[in-house]
Amino acid sequence: MKKQNPFHSLSPSFFSGLLDDPLLFIRVPPPEQNILVDCGQLDHLAKRTLKSVGSLFISHAHMDHFIGIDKFTRSILVSSKTIDLFGPPDISRKLAAKLQGYDWNLVEDFFCRFRVHEVSEDEIQIYSLPGAEGFKRRFIETVDKNGRHLTENRSVVVDGVLCDHRIPTLIVKFTEKPVFLIDEERVSQQGLVRGPWIPQLKEHFYSGHLPLPVMTIEQCNGERSIIITEKEAHGLYEKISKKQAVSSIGYLTDVGFSKSNINKILNLFEGVTLLVCECTYLSAQLEKARRSCHLCTSDLNQLIRELQPDFLLPMHLSKTYLGKTHLLYEELEIPDGCQLIKLPDRVTPEPITPLGTPDLLTLSDHRN
Ligand SMILES: [Zn+2]
Repeated sequence: MKKQNPFHSLSPSFFSGLLDDPLLFIRVPPPEQNILVDCGQLDHLAKRTLKSVGSLFISHAHMDHFIGIDKFTRSILVSSKTIDLFGPPDISRKLAAKLQGYDWNLVEDFFCRFRVHEVSEDEIQIYSLPGAEGFKRRFIETVDKNGRHLTENRSVVVDGVLCDHRIPTLIVKFTEKPVFLIDEERVSQQGLVRGPWIPQLKEHFYSGHLPLPVMTIEQCNGERSIIITEKEAHGLYEKISKKQAVSSIGYLTDVGFSKSNINKILNLFEGVTLLVCECTYLSAQLEKARRSCHLCTSDLNQLIRELQPDFLLPMHLSKTYLGKTHLLYEELEIPDGCQLIKLPDRVTPEPITPLGTPDLLTLSDHRN
């Protein structure tokens, strides 16, 4: 049976096919702060979609995960936006090197800028690459890394750690923050009547401040209205809020199946709701997976047995399996209660030739 959408505020879309270079887009409030994870094949994405991105997470700079950054930069160039880019050490130098391949003699003050956060074990180095200066890289500061925490806004918390892929690769988890949700039954249990105080309490929930110095709440039994100060607002919300499950998205790609990586993966993704995970090889090519530090189906089976995600989206299958991608789904052992999300092989249509589609050509070949 199809499960219900578990997310309140996050809206993930995987914008590439099973064989395409990966690209995960997460819509997240507030507007214009959407998230893009990896910059694979993004030629088919609308400019307005790319312009809505506020932060980018790049797992590593292998070409299939970073090739779309030029198109991304082109789409957002003429905007005064600052894009926060998170990635492994040295990603700012690689971004600068890529962008130095263009002429920047006609820059404008209002061009976008990147603020790059290079994540290492226990610190984050921050660089600035302003478009107004032709994306020249400037070191800003080093800040301590607070455990796995990378960043957060009012809707989402992002955690991440580095794994080994012969080079460091960043794996990330996006956890929804609870939304403002009132339980009507608890409101009446407290003897309170709904009123303009609810939006005021909502504002306090998101900003930490009451719009007015105090809130006045009418009581059911006609007794005197009660007065709530800013200090008491949090306690009031605790009494009338609705319990809600917190959902999360894990993005795991390009990691070797080593003991150290497995520990990091299991710790970071414990309780994950949706796991978006590479599965580059079938189990028969385990040796190849080990050599290139990728996962194969038997590795992914072991991980999902332990993690028991509610949803699993396997991705980044090797292009050598073109025409037999069904084998991936045959080899996966999906745990009870986990819903498998299948991707098409490609998201862009096959080219149409004057003689018809490649499929039709194959059919006519058979007939001859
Ligand atoms: Zn790679």
